Amino acid sequence: MKLKIGVLGLQGDVREHIEMLQLLGVETLVVKLPEDLQLVDGLIIPGGESTTMIRIMKEVEMYEPLKEKINKGFPVYGTCAGMILLANRVKDSDQLTLQVLDVEVERNAYGRQIESFEVDINVPEFGEKPFRAVFIRAPKIVELGNNVEVLAKYEDAPVFVRENNVMATSFHPELTKDTRIHEYFIKMVEELKR
Ligand code: GLN
Repeated sequence: MKLKIGVLGLQGDVREHIEMLQLLGVETLVVKLPEDLQLVDGLIIPGGESTTMIRIMKEVEMYEPLKEKINKGFPVYGTCAGMILLANRVKDSDQLTLQVLDVEVERNAYGRQIESFEVDINVPEFGEKPFRAVFIRAPKIVELGNNVEVLAKYEDAPVFVRENNVMATSFHPELTKDTRIHEYFIKMVEELKR
């Protein structure tokens, strides 16, 4: 059976992720309601505004079922604001998160002077060819749990991490033409489904 991957469609850059997933040949669904979660094999939480996204998630009563599902092994991938939503803690804030990834993040920690920037990063898993990472008011991982695997770093901080069924990037691969991170996620969903 073909994999079906959802993109959380409450707020943020949903379409770019859907397009990239379609390019890679998986079925897609824009997930807006808790019951949609039963129809997908994995979920991408896009970039956007984390405070708005978590508020809507509460309103549509998706917070509890999603958190529970992730704790039972459901594969998720958060980009940027999506990473904030997955993190255990937000630095200097009591902002609510799903608390399923053992990191502490600091919001808007890159580019206080500049809103966004692009940089080539090295992802050992992907071999020689660097990955063009687009950062937009991105969160920075300032603390990392022992079981969190670091797949890429930029300067001193991890920017691409995975803890079992939960992966996250500080940057936005859906805004480039490079599909390798989405392919990595699809492979992870496949493996966890077996
Ligand atoms: N700064 C946003 C937040 O804190 C994240 C920005 C993004 O997702 N591009 O929610």
